[in-house]
Amino acid sequence: MNQIFKTSVDYVRGVGTTRAEMLKKELGIFTFEDLLRHFPFKYIDRTKFYKIRDINEDLPHVQVIARLTQKELVGDKRTKRLVARVQDDTGTMELAWFQGIKWAEKNLIVGKAYIIFGKPGSFNGKAQMAHPEIEPYSAEALQRKGNLTLQPVYSSTEKLKSFSLDSKGIQKLTAILLEQHGKDIEENLPQYILQKFKLMGRSDAYRSAHFPEDATALHEAQYRLKFEELFNIQLKLLKNKLLRTQKYRGNVFEKVGHYFTGFYEDKLPFALTNAQKKVLKEIRLDTQRGVQMNRLLQGDVGSGKTVVALMTVLMAIDNGFQACLMAPTEILATQHYHSIKGLVGDDFIELALLTGSTKQKARRPIHEKLEDGTLQLLIGTHALLEDKVQFKNLGLAVIDEQHRFGVEQRSKLWRKNALPPHVLVMTATPIPRTLAMTLYGDLDVSVINELPAGRKPIETVHFYENQRLRMFGLMKQEIAKGRQIYVVYPLIKESEKLDLKNLEDGIETMSREFPLPDYRISVVHGKLAAAEKEAEMQRFVRGETHIMVATTVIEVGVNVPNASVMIIENSERFGLSQLHQLRGRVGRGAEQSYCILMSGHKLSREGRIRLDTMVATNDGFKISEIDLELRGPGDIEGTQQSGVLDLKMANLATDQELLMTVRHQVEEIFEKDPQLAHPENQILHQMLQTKSGGLSWDKIS
Ligand code: ADP
Ligand code: MG
Repeated sequence: MNQIFKTSVDYVRGVGTTRAEMLKKELGIFTFEDLLRHFPFKYIDRTKFYKIRDINEDLPHVQVIARLTQKELVGDKRTKRLVARVQDDTGTMELAWFQGIKWAEKNLIVGKAYIIFGKPGSFNGKAQMAHPEIEPYSAEALQRKGNLTLQPVYSSTEKLKSFSLDSKGIQKLTAILLEQHGKDIEENLPQYILQKFKLMGRSDAYRSAHFPEDATALHEAQYRLKFEELFNIQLKLLKNKLLRTQKYRGNVFEKVGHYFTGFYEDKLPFALTNAQKKVLKEIRLDTQRGVQMNRLLQGDVGSGKTVVALMTVLMAIDNGFQACLMAPTEILATQHYHSIKGLVGDDFIELALLTGSTKQKARRPIHEKLEDGTLQLLIGTHALLEDKVQFKNLGLAVIDEQHRFGVEQRSKLWRKNALPPHVLVMTATPIPRTLAMTLYGDLDVSVINELPAGRKPIETVHFYENQRLRMFGLMKQEIAKGRQIYVVYPLIKESEKLDLKNLEDGIETMSREFPLPDYRISVVHGKLAAAEKEAEMQRFVRGETHIMVATTVIEVGVNVPNASVMIIENSERFGLSQLHQLRGRVGRGAEQSYCILMSGHKLSREGRIRLDTMVATNDGFKISEIDLELRGPGDIEGTQQSGVLDLKMANLATDQELLMTVRHQVEEIFEKDPQLAHPENQILHQMLQTKSGGLSWDKIS
């Protein structure tokens, strides 16, 4: 289907081998498809003249004809700028120059009319344009400009520019390609879908996305291409889900029995939150249907996922099945083992811990008991996946921290039983709904969006360098109460040297401010040997040190309920989700906890939004939404293996509504025609077969 899409870009007339090489290297453009999907990042509209009244911030570059009524120099030495005022018959607007002030002052003449072209913005609530292109109005100038339509602007690189592949060069190639092959771009959506959603045809959409006749055509083309991108992903994901439910029968957890009820009535030390109850109900329904469960459990740090997992395990045991719980690191696995043991007590169920460092001698009985079925719950790391680990009757696999395990590993777990076990995946990294729907569209998603009652929300403050004394004060006060404190420094590869210097300076400052013998400090960073790191960590865990100075190595896995303060140095350099994860290290005990974000005075706009967000909310889902808006999905963990990064048109942050529409539509298609056997759906059936259609299917789990 549509072979031309896969044709190498060498074959575009006028490209040739050298330029083809450059396109591959610099922009990752290998095929016709890649070139066609290298969409303009903006368009310049020089056909239309706007009236000042109609100008607003949301418009791209616009053009106006207006008369200069005023100009003046304002601001002091640092903020000096030339501000001019222009007027047409509908209103006035400000123009500003921060650079090239001399030029503007000399050439702009009050009383004269100009053609002004720029990106509208606003300043103090008034329409404004900074550094517009401006030239005196004349009939001749006007005509010259009127001939241009919406001009596409493409991203390029310095290197490419030297091969005449700047924006204009790319535009030319794209025009040639569309002229040669535009008509060969086949439709890939069913006719009835095109009609129902009034979508532009595919070939036209590609053409209009690059060379729109007007803003309406551009909008329609973009809508169509977004629709197609999201539709194809959902089609694939929901097909997988359908296959799973058709193909894999699941173990039936018929009853709730001695283990579940006994635990619930006699051992559970607290009342479940409503969110926990709701999720347990969802799981209970899932495991009774005779279909394999594949459920993602999302919940913020501390929301109580472990108990839910444990109670699901007990359901399995009640029905004569074994269960396993797999965590990404030894520390986490060990912690799960101890906290579950703490909850159920000794002698309630048979459980064991298996990790890479479990001694050979201890392994033998584990293997034996697994095989004869007496071991009911096995907790561990990747070690669980080894072929030697054989269960008698594995009914449930719980996986903690999904992102770290690949699809391959998931499927290894599946094969551990004749009927694949039910799978419950837990993640503490909340992700926005749209992203979840795309990353894990073939899973069912449960959310614990409520913290246990009585938990004191962590108080977060943002301090500048000159408030460091207050920070020390708070630290001393907390240590005097017997609490412990984390101080975290960024460690980012590119500037490792600088980071190490920061860390060393930090350690020195801390040692001076918190001297022995009254205060003791643990230091943990990536340069330490593993054993040393572990020893330093353990000192802190055992409460032998008051302060742990560390790089981000502590992000995962440490659980020290007595720690009540998290100080993040250079916090402006961390991403939002990382900040949130770090903050989650405190607030685990009953005490009021604090998070102090230290930063320099100079903050980027984004940096400020991040810190303000952290101060404003503890809600991981809210934070993840803002994170997605700020960064796009590319940097969010887990997206690498998904199809999300191939989205060239759709944007998961801004196209949520469209995604929902598309999702519902695809669900409806599968409800009516699960095999895609109707003639009208032939085109979709084909696409799933051929794995083409503009996305790398193999990357989608
Ligand atoms: P998560 O794994 O989601 O980060 P945990 O399951 O480790 O959270 O739970 C955090 C803490 O809260 C644990 O000490 C747990 O025993 C406790 N906890 C869980 N559910 C509740 C609840 N409903 N009420 C009170 N405490 C709870
Ligand atoms: Mg946990």
